[in-house]
Amino acid sequence: MDHPTAAAEFIANAERAQWHDRALWFVRAKRDKSAHALPEWEKLREVASQIKFHTMSRLADYLEQFEQQAVGRGAVVHWARDADEHNRIVHELLDSHGVRRVVKSKSMLTEECGLNDYLQNRAIEVVDTDLGERIVQLRHEHPSHIVLPAIHIKKEEVGQLFHEHLGTAAGASDPSYLAEAARHHLRQKLLDADAGITGVNFAIAETGGFVVCTNEGNADLGTSLPKLHIACLGIEKLIPHRADLGVFLRLLARSATGQPITTYSSHFHGPRPGGELHIVLVDNGRGDLLANSDFRRSLHCIRCGACLNTCPVYRRSGGHSYGVTIAGPIGSIINPARDPTAHASLPHACSLCGSCTDVCPVKIDLHHQLFTWRQRLAERGLLPFTKRMALKAAGFVLRRPMLYRLTGWLARKTVPRLPRWLLYHRFNPWGKQRELPAMPARSFRKLYQLEVEGRAIKQTSPEKPRDKESCGE
Ligand code: SF4
Repeated sequence: MDHPTAAAEFIANAERAQWHDRALWFVRAKRDKSAHALPEWEKLREVASQIKFHTMSRLADYLEQFEQQAVGRGAVVHWARDADEHNRIVHELLDSHGVRRVVKSKSMLTEECGLNDYLQNRAIEVVDTDLGERIVQLRHEHPSHIVLPAIHIKKEEVGQLFHEHLGTAAGASDPSYLAEAARHHLRQKLLDADAGITGVNFAIAETGGFVVCTNEGNADLGTSLPKLHIACLGIEKLIPHRADLGVFLRLLARSATGQPITTYSSHFHGPRPGGELHIVLVDNGRGDLLANSDFRRSLHCIRCGACLNTCPVYRRSGGHSYGVTIAGPIGSIINPARDPTAHASLPHACSLCGSCTDVCPVKIDLHHQLFTWRQRLAERGLLPFTKRMALKAAGFVLRRPMLYRLTGWLARKTVPRLPRWLLYHRFNPWGKQRELPAMPARSFRKLYQLEVEGRAIKQTSPEKPRDKESCGE
């Protein structure tokens, strides 16, 4: 299903669409307040952007350094070319340790690789321990947002879900009551687990350590109780030095939720005493993206979600309408890079307002890259038929000034007189929720001409004598 079709389903529930829009705008406003409280905010963004440019220019070296340091600290490092290899490595590790129950803290990489289904099909129970992730897991859904996975679900729906799965009181929707019930449920799952899987927010080449940011402390619990810890790490998460970490931690939480810092920033340096730490470094298309000069800057992303929260299209169409793990502006860049045909509609799910670029903490030029994608898709013939025809017609008219003027004149004269059914029909999706503006009496060209002539007349008329009083003399 392409984005416009899936978005139409989301918008059909107007109440949900409006509430979703408001909820995300609230998060965006919190981000603004938090960012404006730091006088050095723009400097931090610039420094973060430069660190990312530098890291990507020597990614291979930093990856090798990271591996060397991590191994020196007692971790075992694995390399996965793609999602299949990643899933196979994780499964073999779990299987060789006799693991049947795994707790997982939030990791968009494992979502991207489809790890939950892979393991569950091999009789390994996987429990997502982040509350939002657990909610979507119980609903057999995927997260709709990279930071707020259950933002599309109302508390009354969570109440019903918990009543069915966790035995809470029927009709209960009090967030504190529901959170407490989830805490008890997850605590038991954490105690019973044989292994813990985490994602990684930042991996430090200099030390071989890595950091996982959570607000619920579930990454710490999930890795402190079981002896086996597997960390799944996308290769773009590298930063060169420990000193760089402060820049990104300050930017990440403020951009994501407006907090000064995430509640837990857990540092891992080697396995805990008596335990095992395995780090799986995953490419899965990132190397190809790095080789692509048009879109390699999308690898700078720190997955804060700010571009989703501010995007007028994302807010009004919901994350599931994108049909991919990472939705929103950044998802509309990285997913077409994997499969341009399957995701050809995504770069068009954008008004090119540039708000995503303005809020991105690492200064990714998101709307420029989305615009570039549209050109690349057009070059490959991947535009929908109606859009192709419309652009061809527009190109034909715009290349012929006389025809352009004639078309404008005809539109001004005839459109106000046309019957409504001829203007608003199923071949005009633009008019589904919008009314055409009133036709102007004159063309822009004519108005501009009159303005220029008016200015010329003013300039040639003799200057008035200066008024002494008004000059204060
Ligand atoms: S592209 Fe920028 S704003 Fe969007 S999630 Fe990534 S870091 Fe955040």
